[in-house]
Amino acid sequence: MDIKNKLLSRLPAVNDFLADEEVQKLIEKYGRKLVLAEIRQLISNSRSELINLIEQDEVDAAKSKSESFKVENLRESLQAAIEKTLRPNLAPAVNATGVVVHTNLGRSLLSERAKEMLQMVSSHYTTLEIDRESGERGSRYDNVAELLCQLTGAEDALVVNNNAAAVLLALSALAADQEVIISRGELIEIGGSFRIPEVMKQSGAKLREVGTTNKVYPEDFVEAINEETALLLKVHTSNYRVVGFTREISLEELVRLGEEYNLPVLDDLGSGVFTNMEQVGLTPEPTVEERVAAGADLVTFSGDKILGGPQAGIIVGSKDYIAKLKNHPLTRAIRVDKYTLAALEGTLKAYQDPEGVMEEIPTLRMLSSPTTKLQERAERLLEAIEEFLPAGITAAIADDSSRVGGGAYPLAQLKTRIVTLQEETGKIHRLAKEIRTNYPPIFTRLINDRLIFDVRTLQPGDIDIISSSLQEALEVIYDDSRE
Ligand SMILES: *Cc1c(COP(=O)(O)O)cnc(C)c1O
Repeated sequence: MDIKNKLLSRLPAVNDFLADEEVQKLIEKYGRKLVLAEIRQLISNSRSELINLIEQDEVDAAKSKSESFKVENLRESLQAAIEKTLRPNLAPAVNATGVVVHTNLGRSLLSERAKEMLQMVSSHYTTLEIDRESGERGSRYDNVAELLCQLTGAEDALVVNNNAAAVLLALSALAADQEVIISRGELIEIGGSFRIPEVMKQSGAKLREVGTTNKVYPEDFVEAINEETALLLKVHTSNYRVVGFTREISLEELVRLGEEYNLPVLDDLGSGVFTNMEQVGLTPEPTVEERVAAGADLVTFSGDKILGGPQAGIIVGSKDYIAKLKNHPLTRAIRVDKYTLAALEGTLKAYQDPEGVMEEIPTLRMLSSPTTKLQERAERLLEAIEEFLPAGITAAIADDSSRVGGGAYPLAQLKTRIVTLQEETGKIHRLAKEIRTNYPPIFTRLINDRLIFDVRTLQPGDIDIISSSLQEALEVIYDDSRE
């Protein structure tokens, strides 16, 4: 027998695992099928490791490895592998980036009321689409339409899957095969490849861009209006600003043109702000109510940006235009489900109390966290990690700024407190990766070799997670380097 076969023959077989008492306990706990699959995987991995070493002529290493491949040494790996398999792929994450509406981390956290609503629709049949008076079929949109009208002053409302779908629907229903006029400076791209020209193309509407990148006048619109024109479009430049020698077209100017030429005005607001954001220290952004009052025929915005609810595209506006949208076949294809509607209703109800809402909606609460609270949180984090930091790593509290995120308020800097870690031997990137790949994963900022924890976006319990994950990661890193 050659060395390769000899070493491979020493690997424990499935039956050796099954004969082990501890493994039997795992089977009782997790079921035979899963445990068997993991045992086979473990044997196959060990096999590959051995073969690799032998092929690289590392015979001695292969020999000692093969001796360590015994059931009693592999039990722990087996249990870890089983637990890893059972973990959900969509993992809870710690957001220490300070980006409040973090699209890649799922944008908004829901309020307690929204979560209760979600719980309720998950475990009960509901009045989703039924009219209780008549017992006949009703409309799912009625569940939130009235609330949306109350909060925005609009005549009617419709909710679809996201704001991209809302814009696509409005363009398809009102301007297919016709022309839509938009200012060149508003041809935006939002993350996740939402590009106005491409959405326009998909809807069948023809894009008519007017003005220059930095300046546009009402006359530019007037010149472009012809019998093919179906809609005037205003898109909020959510994620960038054109500054300097600029002139935008205001919604009021567009509305005046719309009235004069009998054309609807669509206002894609992006972030749906319902409250005055000045109280958070942000520059005032138009609220949905203001846009409706200014005369926009339709206003579209996201449910999960600053509004702080579930992913949704909300359209509010005049009865006639909303009716046109409702009757378009696309509406059925981008229909929201009961979970979205439930979470949205729970979210919107908070806005009936303009003072309470800043505390009730997590997004608004995080945006408006006072510095004293952030300082106190930073101190708790520092205290939790300081005690186990090895020599060579220094931790400190510093001032910095957080971001709103979600493509909103691109220039806003929210004063925050951060806890920074600096490492002498260049292992900080390794550390960041360790805690990101650990469970639950932790996402931080990493700037100039400083690992940064922005405490603004931390949730209750996160400090403990960070502390134990860091401790584990440091053990792994410093153990490896000792080898
Ligand atoms: C974010 C945004 C969108 C896309 O909204 P989603 O809800 O992400 O689909 C469209 N338009 C504007 C102006 C935005 O800011």
